[in-house]
Amino acid sequence: MKEVLSPFEDHRFECVMCGECCCSRSIPLTCEDIKRISRYRDPKDFVVIFGERKLVLDRREWDSGCVFLRDGMCTIQEDKPLVCRLYPICVSDYPLTKEEGKNIELDDGSSAFVYVDVSCKGVGRGKLVDLEEIRRDALVLRNEVFATDLEALIGWYIDYEEEEPEEKESD
Ligand code: SF4
Ligand code: SF4
Repeated sequence: MKEVLSPFEDHRFECVMCGECCCSRSIPLTCEDIKRISRYRDPKDFVVIFGERKLVLDRREWDSGCVFLRDGMCTIQEDKPLVCRLYPICVSDYPLTKEEGKNIELDDGSSAFVYVDVSCKGVGRGKLVDLEEIRRDALVLRNEVFATDLEALIGWYIDYEEEEPEEKESD
């Protein structure tokens, strides 16, 4: 599945549970995403460095699927990363394609460009996407991205991966 971003214009969406978006994309993580998902698994079992600049969700080798995907369903639905929560909507501080996305104002006075990935099979079905919900989630995402000290987080991750397992005490 190749992402095809189009400016948002009152699209409809209903997920058909094809699972394709969970097998084709790198999902960037905020610090808060990692904390929330750590309830389910140890971070070393789901976080990887992508391109030395991002921490992303790990994917399985056999189908490129996210490690939290089972039978086409997300197993951390309530705590999935914000980027997944917004999908098939994508928001950004800057235009992501030659065409500017729909420009929306957020409650902190900033603005964001909104796109929809029209390669998603659920786009065009179901209910109209609620723009208010996008505005709320986009602000949470923006705040969490700003609050994420990427250098420190990647440093933490590298130290964490290199940590020696504690020696077990002998009986
Ligand atoms: S969001 Fe779209 S691509 Fe992802 S599982 Fe639902 S219908 Fe499929
Ligand atoms: S966290 Fe859930 S929604 Fe996000 S890619 Fe993984 S399985 Fe899909």
